[in-house]
Amino acid sequence: MYTFNPGPSQVYPQVRQYLQDAFDEGWLSAPHRGERFTGLMRQTVQELKNKLNVPQDYTVFFMSSATECWEVLAQSLTPRKSFHLYSGAFGEKWYEYAKALRPASVGYPFGLNEVPDVAALPLPDDETDLVCITQNETSNATQLRDGFILNLYNRLGSALLAVDATSSMAGVQLKYIKADVWYASVQKCFGLPAGLSLMILSPRAVARLREINERSHYNSLASQYEKMLNWQTTHTPNVLNIYLLYRVLQDRPVIKAVHQHLQDRATKLYDYFEQATQLTPLVTNPETRSTTVIGLQGTPTLIEEVKRRALAQGLQLGNGYGNWKAGSLRIANFPAIPDAAFEQLVQFFAKEFA
Ligand SMILES: *Cc1c(COP(=O)(O)O)cnc(C)c1O
Repeated sequence: MYTFNPGPSQVYPQVRQYLQDAFDEGWLSAPHRGERFTGLMRQTVQELKNKLNVPQDYTVFFMSSATECWEVLAQSLTPRKSFHLYSGAFGEKWYEYAKALRPASVGYPFGLNEVPDVAALPLPDDETDLVCITQNETSNATQLRDGFILNLYNRLGSALLAVDATSSMAGVQLKYIKADVWYASVQKCFGLPAGLSLMILSPRAVARLREINERSHYNSLASQYEKMLNWQTTHTPNVLNIYLLYRVLQDRPVIKAVHQHLQDRATKLYDYFEQATQLTPLVTNPETRSTTVIGLQGTPTLIEEVKRRALAQGLQLGNGYGNWKAGSLRIANFPAIPDAAFEQLVQFFAKEFA
């Protein structure tokens, strides 16, 4: 059985052994203020920076979900308002969370086959604290490329650039120096069980959060920053998942290799689905297609039939999401899914839906 669901997604088979090791090595009762745990935190952050090419002067925080990151960014880095550029359901949800805390926040939707024109955006604006984008929009299988992010970064003024990379971090080689805040949860490209997220901040973002110094919440960034200076958290953290993250990072190749592998696999899949099957890619513009989540469209009846027959053969496909629920399905192209699974998937389509 393989799952191509884009979150929670297929975990690495090694997780079984890591879990056993966590138990045997006593991590499940390890005190989170003790030296053993703080050592694990330090090593995990170092391994993350090495494997994902994160600049050494960036700061890493651990939280519980990407959703928590949405709320924390509004509460601790947005004294006035944020600006949200989005094409799908996750970007829009982020905007909704921000608006609930900072009602002046502004949403700017764009189409899934569109690369927004940076010069035409109402930016920079002296009142905007945070500009928010979703690098990989999991709901509609789109992606914003490096060139776009760079153009946007160069037009920010005093605002910070925050990037939701939940379904691409650890799968795509992200240019961390071209934004101030990056975050992801581990149940996507990290191939781990849910319940942990990471937020990566530039020195500029750290300076800003210290200047704003918001401390009204248990997860306020100023408090998290203070604790993290000693490799600690404000509350008892998800020690088990941090341990799993450390182990999985140790065993993974560097991001450059992972990125190339996923990109090659995505290119092959898009080529295949463009020509050979009854379903077609949901995103018609190759420039906006995601490399880590492949969206396919068809009539609702066909979509249902494909999912049902695939499942009968041990291949679980991801449902469509939000507006695209009935007329599409999604295939995660995450690192923990082996090439053999994709070979089986292509054979399935070739045999039953060519
Ligand atoms: C999955 C996902 C989220 C939500 O992640 P949680 O860890 O469940 O909060 C947010 N943004 C994107 C782009 C996602 O793919």
